[in-house]
Amino acid sequence: MLGNQFLSAIYRLGMDGSVTKVVGTACPCMTFIDPARPEYSAEYHRLHPAPATPNCGGSGVINTSTTTLAIRAIIYPVSIAYANIKMDINGWVQEVIGRMKDCDMVLIGTVQTSGVTFFDLTVLSEFSDKATFDSIDYRVTNIAPYKFGRETLFQAAGLKRVA
Ligand SMILES: [Zn+2]
Repeated sequence: MLGNQFLSAIYRLGMDGSVTKVVGTACPCMTFIDPARPEYSAEYHRLHPAPATPNCGGSGVINTSTTTLAIRAIIYPVSIAYANIKMDINGWVQEVIGRMKDCDMVLIGTVQTSGVTFFDLTVLSEFSDKATFDSIDYRVTNIAPYKFGRETLFQAAGLKRVA
């Protein structure tokens, strides 16, 4: 299987990191402005102060617990991705790079370290979850599948540095 060869290559060439997924319940502030388009509302928390109403602190989730999983991925700085814009497929690099800073990274391919299996980045929330490489936390954005036939070989994503 071509997919397995890709996973082995990502494991061999990739950098050790982790993903931290926050599970919890959606904060009521997320539907305060427009229930159809959930987004964080500082106004809601001003009107409903803690401790009576828990404050999600911008994460959009309350009553949380976290799970962390070891992964390996190939990551490189945005500036290098920018040089590859001519090879861009479907405008993905251009769209992602346009909204990123020099301290951000581009990720190509992720494996779960245990078992060298495909890790599906789409299970992560851009807002509440994170990926960590070299002790630096990133939000995972713009996840794009690269397919061979119907098989997803790997996913690309933008890593936006957190603070
Ligand atoms: Zn909130």
